[in-house]
Amino acid sequence: MAKKSKYVYFFGNKKAEGKSEMKNLLGGKGANLAEMVNIGLPVPAGFTITTEVCTYYYENKKKYPKELKADVLAALKRVEAAMGAKFGDAKNPLLVSVRSGARASMPGMMDTILNLGLNDETVKGVIEKTNNPRFAYDSYRRFVQMYGDVVLGLKPVDKHEEDPFEVIIEKKKNDNGFKFDTELTADHLKELVEEFKAAIKEKTGNDFPTKPMDQLWGAIGAVFGSWDNERAIIYRKINNIPAEWGTAVNVQSMVFGNMGEDSGTGVAFTRDPAAGKNLFYGEYLFNAQGEDVVAGIRTPLPIAKLKEDDPKIYKQLNDIRNILEKHYKDMMDIEFTIQQGNLWMLQCRVGKRTGFAAIKMAVDMVKERLISKEEAINRIEPNQLNQLLRPIFDLDQKKVAVGEGRLLAKGLNAGPGAASGKIALSAQDAEDMANKGDKVILVRIETSPEDIKGMNAAEGILTARGGMTSHAALVARQMGKVCVAGCGSLKINYRDRTVGVEGKDILLKEGDYISIDGTTGEVISGKIETKPSEVIQVLLNKTLDPKDSPVYQTYASLMNWADKLRRLNIRTNADQPDQAANAIAFGAEGIGLCRTEHMFFGGDRIMSVRKMIVSDTLEDRKAALAELLPLQREDFAGIFEVMNGLPATIRTLDPPLHEFLPHEEKETNELAEALNISVDKLKQKIDSLHEFNPMLGFRGCRLGVLYPEITEMQARAIFEAACDTQAKGIKVHPEVMIPLVGDLKEFKLQEKIVRQVAQEVMKEKGRKIKYLVGTMIELPRAAVTADQIAKGAEFFSFGTNDLTQTTFGLSRDDAGKFLPLYVQNEILPSDPFEVLDQNGVGQLVKMGTEKGRSTRPDLKVGICGEHGGEPSSVEFCHRTGLNYVSCSPFRVPIARLAAARAVVKELSASKPKKTKSSGKGKKKKVSKKKK
Ligand code: PEP
Ligand code: MG
Repeated sequence: MAKKSKYVYFFGNKKAEGKSEMKNLLGGKGANLAEMVNIGLPVPAGFTITTEVCTYYYENKKKYPKELKADVLAALKRVEAAMGAKFGDAKNPLLVSVRSGARASMPGMMDTILNLGLNDETVKGVIEKTNNPRFAYDSYRRFVQMYGDVVLGLKPVDKHEEDPFEVIIEKKKNDNGFKFDTELTADHLKELVEEFKAAIKEKTGNDFPTKPMDQLWGAIGAVFGSWDNERAIIYRKINNIPAEWGTAVNVQSMVFGNMGEDSGTGVAFTRDPAAGKNLFYGEYLFNAQGEDVVAGIRTPLPIAKLKEDDPKIYKQLNDIRNILEKHYKDMMDIEFTIQQGNLWMLQCRVGKRTGFAAIKMAVDMVKERLISKEEAINRIEPNQLNQLLRPIFDLDQKKVAVGEGRLLAKGLNAGPGAASGKIALSAQDAEDMANKGDKVILVRIETSPEDIKGMNAAEGILTARGGMTSHAALVARQMGKVCVAGCGSLKINYRDRTVGVEGKDILLKEGDYISIDGTTGEVISGKIETKPSEVIQVLLNKTLDPKDSPVYQTYASLMNWADKLRRLNIRTNADQPDQAANAIAFGAEGIGLCRTEHMFFGGDRIMSVRKMIVSDTLEDRKAALAELLPLQREDFAGIFEVMNGLPATIRTLDPPLHEFLPHEEKETNELAEALNISVDKLKQKIDSLHEFNPMLGFRGCRLGVLYPEITEMQARAIFEAACDTQAKGIKVHPEVMIPLVGDLKEFKLQEKIVRQVAQEVMKEKGRKIKYLVGTMIELPRAAVTADQIAKGAEFFSFGTNDLTQTTFGLSRDDAGKFLPLYVQNEILPSDPFEVLDQNGVGQLVKMGTEKGRSTRPDLKVGICGEHGGEPSSVEFCHRTGLNYVSCSPFRVPIARLAAARAVVKELSASKPKKTKSSGKGKKKKVSKKKK
């Protein structure tokens, strides 16, 4: 008989059946509630229904395993015993919350119900216990409101409709001349309960369940059901969360933050999640419940204020902060409630943070000896580095803007960085405008989970309500967006599509420019140019001294650790000296691809290139090439100088020739005149070069095979430049690369020319240059015959752009028309031109590398397709034993970190057990980098 599954896990009374490692089964929230109980923190008792039940529910037409009912009842009994109250009891009722909790946190995406267990009888028990009818009826109306919305489906039909429950509350306040909810009395709240129930019945046809047990199962069903609501599905897609994971359901005793002024509720982070500073960071509200802090309806107080307001609770909370950081060795996000002077922990999880904060915290925690360097590297997603490289406002322009009185308001600095764009007042507008190519700032009174697509499309997010932990702030930080939240003086009018500012005579319209500074919270009208980040200012612009930039210092520490760990070399794809210089500043160790044809477009060169292409005779072609020679020599000399002895892989001409020819009438006429031939003759020539499939046509080494004089000229330019640079006392290390080789013979023909020219030039100049001649592997045939090709080639560089194109038989220029649909429909996991297809194209890379090295064991192998800067592809290259990856300059830091993470992953796979680490941890043995 199969082992009986355990579907329900109890926690409370200082002991829990679960623990933090059981996230897959209990979800993040359930596992951490159990863990907090186990480490002695005050947690209200409850139980977790596992994610397996969710899977079962969806696989069995929304039915539960038959044992579940009894298991829930048994667990509920234990909760009753732990809390000394009884579910559904008219005298001493136990009230519970029912919340979702998936493996990965999905803030606000699924449903939650609080105060469950209340009905017309049990509410009397609450009154008796608390002697506070107002509190009891307020809890009851909140419950009916939430349950009515989430379980029974009374909600606004569209974005413009107001919440039907809020309409009833507003009416009640207006009828009584009240301004605030707090003015409503117990009787008013009691009336609201009845009015809510009547509205639910009228609009949805549903009766409100009076039996607590019915309420409980209704809520459990709604939470499991919310796993498949639209916003949760979108969130999963954006965050790559598989649908099969499912959510757990946590049923937990209620504690109340709204029992008077000695009660409250709050959310906090053990460190600053926006800037990463090591300070206790959070917000609370007295006399408030659950979602009030994050809902953005009341603006909460900063946690530092709690020190004054309730020093005892503050100390207890701060101690818990330290216990949690020491225990989890990470920044934690907590939710707590104070019930009549007693502190309760309701949630803890590893806190979401900006990339900026992630890097600072990881580096600080190494310095605090909380984690090892490897762990720090492991914690940072390489793409998060983008946030350190993010733009800030041009301070002069900002000063001018402020001087002109354009500073509109100040909100909370919820997501760092600077963004400028057109105002969009709804998520849909933000998406539409961004699709048209506009930069957009999404401006909302507050955001809700439905807005995520629009938030994703926007450069930045600005809200009028809500604190640092509001939905807008949390989600923006997670997405790495610039965000200013809680900017209360904004008057946003959705109907008129305008944004005004309290006390100012200004009215902006949707589509007008606005600028937000997520680091200071400032909101400024109009457009402000953005400026490079501090790291860029130190590294590239050299306008900032590293000593004066803590941000740069943090970056440098991390990069330094990554470099010590990684084995892959990181090179760059650069065609010009300035690009190469940037890449070196970012840590590139050489050029992996210099596309010489990019140089053909500069200045007047294109004319000489065109002359060369349309020449009918060898003499004419040679004459045109002679014009190009000094220009190319100058280009290469510039590059060699910047590289200062680092290897530079220079590729001979690759693209189909038609790419260089004129397509417009005017240009054709000009060329005909310059060549002194008739326009007709030129057109005939151009037509003769037309190909149906140019990317599979006359390109790559095929050009050099047919016109050896092109390769000859390029080789001469390379070696003359190398000799001239060396003569200046600068080391040079050229590597000549032949593109699109499919057979050893093609390579041999080109290699012979290169070596012959090299010999000649070195003799002429009286110098000796060490150089290599290698090839790109961009065709499946090249990968399959790599053992042959390696007989000639001294190095391989996988051109995975073309290799992807030729392996899939998918045009890299045209696939954009349908590839997104393939990804959307999960036919492909991702765009293979962006993320290396490890199962297909990757296997050719592996085969090519192995076969090549079977002939030439010291064969140097790299990759220079766009995948060279994509983290998962970099990891694949590491695993496959490549020597280097080459990527665009701004991706060099990302590739460095990704290469180090690949080593950390390898180390942790070879050491399956011990995961906890300290700064004093033994130094791992890492083999030397391959050059
Ligand atoms: C490639 O094909 O991967 C490559 C780097 O060459 P290009 O993109 O210039 O074709
Ligand atoms: Mg290519």
